[in-house]
Amino acid sequence: MSDSYDVIVIGAGPAGYAAAIRAAQLGMSTACIDKSLGKDGKPVLGGTCLNWGCIPSKALLDASHKYHDAKENFAAVGVQVEGVRIDVPAMIARKDEVVSGLTGGITGLFKGNGVTHLAGTGKLLADRKVEFTAHDGAVQVLQAGHVILAPGSVPVEIPPTPLTEGYIVDSTGALEFDAVPPRLGIIGAGVIGLELGSVWNRLGSEVVVLEALEEFLPMADERVARDALKTYKKQGLDVRLGCLVTGAEVADGAVNVTYKSGDEQHSITVDKLIVAVGRRPYTQNLLSNDCGVNLDERGFLFVNDLCATDAPGVYAVGDVVRGPMLAHKGTEEGVMVAERIAGFKPLVNYDCIPSVIYTHPEVAWVGKTEQEVKASGDAYNVGQFPFAASGRALAANDTEGFVKIIADAQTDRILGVHVFGPQASELVAQAVISMEFDASAEDLGLTMFAHPTLSEAMHEAALGVAGHAIHMVNRKKK
Ligand code: FAD
Ligand code: NAD
Repeated sequence: MSDSYDVIVIGAGPAGYAAAIRAAQLGMSTACIDKSLGKDGKPVLGGTCLNWGCIPSKALLDASHKYHDAKENFAAVGVQVEGVRIDVPAMIARKDEVVSGLTGGITGLFKGNGVTHLAGTGKLLADRKVEFTAHDGAVQVLQAGHVILAPGSVPVEIPPTPLTEGYIVDSTGALEFDAVPPRLGIIGAGVIGLELGSVWNRLGSEVVVLEALEEFLPMADERVARDALKTYKKQGLDVRLGCLVTGAEVADGAVNVTYKSGDEQHSITVDKLIVAVGRRPYTQNLLSNDCGVNLDERGFLFVNDLCATDAPGVYAVGDVVRGPMLAHKGTEEGVMVAERIAGFKPLVNYDCIPSVIYTHPEVAWVGKTEQEVKASGDAYNVGQFPFAASGRALAANDTEGFVKIIADAQTDRILGVHVFGPQASELVAQAVISMEFDASAEDLGLTMFAHPTLSEAMHEAALGVAGHAIHMVNRKKK
């Protein structure tokens, strides 16, 4: 092992591994330090996203959706199936296979691109030195030309609900249930609560979600949040807003959860409780006192728009810095930093970060919500198109939801796009591309879309901004 590198990355999640691969592709000698161990106790790459986040949760979402669809919806399209049942251990084992395939893929990409993987813990010292402690305890101080910090985030824990093995779990534990819990409680109606709540609800759990805020999904467009809440409730997620959890006690093989709603005390008894109240930046033992990197008031590593910290030559990317905690945001930051170190001048467009909630229907958006545009005082137009009027959605028997496009009234520039519906996660990419190219709603309306596709709903919503949607009755008559 060399003791000096052009670039040392700490953390091999989607932010760190992408930074390391890009740095190596650009000809820099690169090492990436990561301390994660897989279920088998061996070092794994990919961070939260591949091991305990995006990928395993989507494997369970897809599996549970297939099961639920077969049970509840196949008959409506003339497919009769009998005896559909879920094999939870098989579902979990397959999820693990997907994870190990992908984490092994990163190992292959490191080898192929010439990134040195150092399995252990990294700590930033002064003057771009990094202390590397291998899993066997051996310590070495390495010198870097540049350092990229990408240590990610960990789940927030709250005092009323201390994690208790087998009963009170965080998102990682909720990916490992070996059977469907008959009664499942979830603290937090955020992205994780809704996604994992959907998984176990589809498989048969009675799910109660306790959310502290009175407002559901405050970061989403109000109409989307309203419709999504109605749908989730119809699906069986018992979402209770304005509920502050006061305690949780494991007794007689179950969890008794107490909470306050208004002035009233309530309680529920569940078989498992998932705590999903957010994540916090993970900086434990990452920085020496004299390394020159500062934290902001919320505990994130302080960086500028280019992800540079206060220490020269030291950058930070991903969940550990400001902005949404999303894998793709971290990846783009990692690539930007590697390219900037190599002398290129890319930027991350923080106004164009797509968000997705992988329920069914999915929720996805990019740009501003209608309430944000309204608050800005600028005049705007809205075009909306329901999937119930989409030929493809009808053919697929998947018609819930709509596409909504908000455009500036003067310039027609697209300000925000919100999709609640089938494949919203894929459809929103069209909006991201449009906004990256500063498209107007008219530009999107003048674009040809294949028929019959769900994408036509995006087209029609764009036409609808000026009142031109073809498959709707238009009152604007322009
Ligand atoms: P991480 O992925 O957290 O990786 C950081 C790595 O650094 C870890 O391996 C950690 O062990 C290592 N590390 C930390 N400190 C040190 C140190 N000092 N030395 C060595 N190694 C260190 N995002 C999406 O965009 N889409 C999704 O669908 C999605 N689903 C999610 C589902 C769940 C259940 C969860 C929990 C998260 C999900 N996320 C999703 C969020 C996503 O996982 C994170 O935004 C993303 O993983 C952040 O990437 P990162 O590289 O910044 O950090
Ligand atoms: P979140 O911030 O999305 O939601 C947490 C929810 O818990 C909030 O609604 C909050 O009001 C509520 N809450 C906080 N304290 C509470 C309390 N004491 N009692 C009841 N409710 C409480 O966080 P998350 O769902 O834990 O997800 C963490 C991060 O992971 C998010 O930032 C998200 O971006 C990322 N993630 C993304 C995806 C995706 O992109 N599809 C999926 C999962 C996670």
